[in-house]
Amino acid sequence: MKKTLKILAAVMALALVIGVFAACGAKTEEKATLTMATNAEFPPYEFHEGDAIVGIDAEIAALIADKLGMELKIEDVEFASIIPGVQAGKYDMGMAGMTVTDERLESVNFSDSYAKGVQVVIIKEGSAIKSLDDLTGKKIGVQTATTGDIYASDEFGEENVTKYENGAIAVQALLSDKIDCVIIDNEPAKSYVAANEGLTILETEYAVEDYAICFAKENTELQEKVNSALKDLIADGSVQKIVDKYISADTAE
Ligand code: GLN
Repeated sequence: MKKTLKILAAVMALALVIGVFAACGAKTEEKATLTMATNAEFPPYEFHEGDAIVGIDAEIAALIADKLGMELKIEDVEFASIIPGVQAGKYDMGMAGMTVTDERLESVNFSDSYAKGVQVVIIKEGSAIKSLDDLTGKKIGVQTATTGDIYASDEFGEENVTKYENGAIAVQALLSDKIDCVIIDNEPAKSYVAANEGLTILETEYAVEDYAICFAKENTELQEKVNSALKDLIADGSVQKIVDKYISADTAE
């Protein structure tokens, strides 16, 4: 009799343990994934730190996912693949220091803006380029499909513009004199100038832009949810706190 009871107790204990594990498993499975496409060569918005992708966008996205009760998954892809991937439903959203433009609005929808960007020109110290006028006929490096690419190609001619997969590669090309300058957003520009000797940023600002998150046209449900989360995170100072962590006051525009 005693033995039967002991076995019974053991069986019940085992059932309890299995039950708890099953419940935990179900809980994590229930959490839907929020897939964000980015190009993690755009410090301080997104960059690699060891195995992790960190930065302003990565941290804001993590807080948004938290608010939506979702699990954030970041996919590091070429900048030019973000919008097509979002349109095809491969990614739920694109967040990559991405500028809102009329042309992009024909393909995707954007969230409210959460930051400003400025296109600037990186040159080598002592460069013959002293102002925007000097860019005519010079070899300009850009990141493929970015606003820097679009403006430079329009204004200075496609034949004078070399397109690179990302900012890091464009800056390497400038350092090795393959090009005369790089047109890129101001904060990544500052990071690249700080990380490489002999580079500087031209005084003139090129274009001021709004950064936002993009979604597939039909996914207005997610767009609205993200907008409401973003609104709360801006109102309670969380977004500013993240920006301040990555951009110190003395280097901010
Ligand atoms: N803000 C620029 C654009 O949207 C560059 C973004 C990027 O290179 N990640 O085109």
